[in-house]
Amino acid sequence: MTYKRTKVKGSRAKLREYFLQNVDRILDSDTLREVAGTSEWARRVRELRNEEGMNIVTHNDRSDLKPGQYLLVDLKPLPSFGRDISKETRAYVLDRNGFTCQMCGAAAGEPHPFDQGRKTRLHIGHIIDKSMGGTDAPSNLRAICSVCNEGASNLTLNRPETIKLIAQVRRAPTKDQIEVLKWLIQKFEKLTRDFLKST
Ligand SMILES: [Zn+2]
Repeated sequence: MTYKRTKVKGSRAKLREYFLQNVDRILDSDTLREVAGTSEWARRVRELRNEEGMNIVTHNDRSDLKPGQYLLVDLKPLPSFGRDISKETRAYVLDRNGFTCQMCGAAAGEPHPFDQGRKTRLHIGHIIDKSMGGTDAPSNLRAICSVCNEGASNLTLNRPETIKLIAQVRRAPTKDQIEVLKWLIQKFEKLTRDFLKST
């Protein structure tokens, strides 16, 4: 192993260095545990991802990875990760957005509609990017899944199949279902009236 082992270096720093030396290479949990020298290694990896914005993916993000495999995709920090956003704000935004990706409609924890082998993981993204003057205020934040966050929007711009569309509406919060209903009634006003008359 090529990483430097020093007594003063913490396990997170050791893992950071090891990932940086192995960009785009699949690392397994045994190796990472050994590098970190602690049973808390998985927590340290999560910190690298969530606090430092390292683009480390697992089988939850990519169907080509097996459980226990980790991969630092590249050196670009996760762009819209909102590391400086408080836990409270994250929770507020996720709840407001019904724990649903605001780009593709995928629901947190469920298989991603465009990659069934992958569980939907939500991040907090900026609507107007910070580089464009956007702020960390909740009004400029939204829930974004890791698929959309990685810019796979060419996939997500496809029109959803009817069955997937209905599934999304079914699992949406009631207030959002009512929004859909309102929008449909408004769009199909005459049809709605005819429909109600006939039932
Ligand atoms: Zn999405």
